[in-house]
Order: sequence, then structure tokens, then C-alpha cells
Amino acid sequence: MSGHFVKAADRGLAACHSCGKVSPVKLEDCPRCGSRLHLRKPASIEGTVALMLAAAALYIPSHILPVLRTTELGVVIDNTIVGGMLTFWQSGAYPIALVIFAASILIPLLKIAALSWLCLAATGKMHPSPEKLGRVYWITELLGRWSMIDIFVVGILVSVLQLGNYVTVKPGPGALAFAGVVVLTMLAAMRFEPRLLWDRLDEDAEAPATTHESSPS
Ligand SMILES: [Zn+2]
Repeated sequence: MSGHFVKAADRGLAACHSCGKVSPVKLEDCPRCGSRLHLRKPASIEGTVALMLAAAALYIPSHILPVLRTTELGVVIDNTIVGGMLTFWQSGAYPIALVIFAASILIPLLKIAALSWLCLAATGKMHPSPEKLGRVYWITELLGRWSMIDIFVVGILVSVLQLGNYVTVKPGPGALAFAGVVVLTMLAAMRFEPRLLWDRLDEDAEAPATTHESSPS
């Protein structure tokens, strides 16, 4: 099904990571901008997995620790992400509650799950069809574009809660952990080398008898 397509790497050509110029990899440095040339990003899977594990570890404190500390007429209240979402839901602000749910709970989890799946496919632990690979990679790219919605949510929360001298809002330690989750998942997605997926498809197509689908892995 997936025939072997000639790739730039087969001809010893590499696209520069910085400026995109395609040059022979034996030049070692890009003739246009001087960046180091690689056929594939070095240690891409290892880097992606390390960044994802760090993001997953920070995901837990980001939901247990308070993200916002509101002081209302001298009374200090700590709000977690889930607590804040439930408060908005109970007060009838359903769209804000849904945006918080999507941005803070669902999207980081989906990103980590999709990237883990792609890493498994790129290392040959799984053998999905090219169509499925393309679709999951497209979803990861789509989620990447919405990373900054988390920042947008914090902006909404502060503007909703900041009511002059009566209420003051300060970020809690959970906000730092949450910012860590956002940054680390973005870096993990950037570290991932999608061309490893297509390399793996070619390897599978060349050796169908050994590992394809029948293997329990
Ligand atoms: Zn360059």
C-alpha cells in the first residue's frame, strides 16, 4: 500500500532547520544562514519523551495547587483550575467553564496522548496505517495552534475577578506549574521529528514479512 517514495534524505539532501534551504548534508553547515544541517533532528524521540514526561509530572501539581489566590474584603480564597471551572458552571457561565475545561484539562492531556502515540509509531512499537498517522499528526498540529488559549483563559479569569479595591487576584503556585505544562508540551511538539514516521513506513514496506501487524509487539 505504501510504496517507497524517494526522499531528500536518500539523496543526501537536508532542509535547514532555521531557514528551510535544502542543501547537501555533507556541507555540514547551511550555506545561507550557517545553522548545522541534519537529515533528521538529532535525538528527537528521546527529547520529546523527556519533555512530555516533565509536562505530565507538572500536570498533577497544576491541578492540585491553587492557580489563583483571591482576597475579597480580607478573606483569602485559593482557587484550583477545576474549582474555578465548577464555580463558573454553577453560576451559569457555561461558555467560560467549557473554555477552561478545554484549554486547561482536555488540550494538554490530548497533546500528551497524541505525541506519545506518534513516538510509539516512530520507534516501530506500533504499525498504524499512513492515513491514521497523517490524521493524528494533523490533530497534534491543530492542538499546537491552540496552545496559547491557556494564556487567554488566565486573562479572562483575572479580568472577571479583578474588581477594584474590593477583590485582589494573585497567581498561586499552581499557575507556575500550569505555565510549565504549556511550555513543555509546546517544546515537546517542536522537538518531535515527523519525518521519522515516514521513514518508519518505508522500513515497514521494505520488510513486510517480519514485523507487519501479525507481531503482538
Ligand atoms: Zn539555513
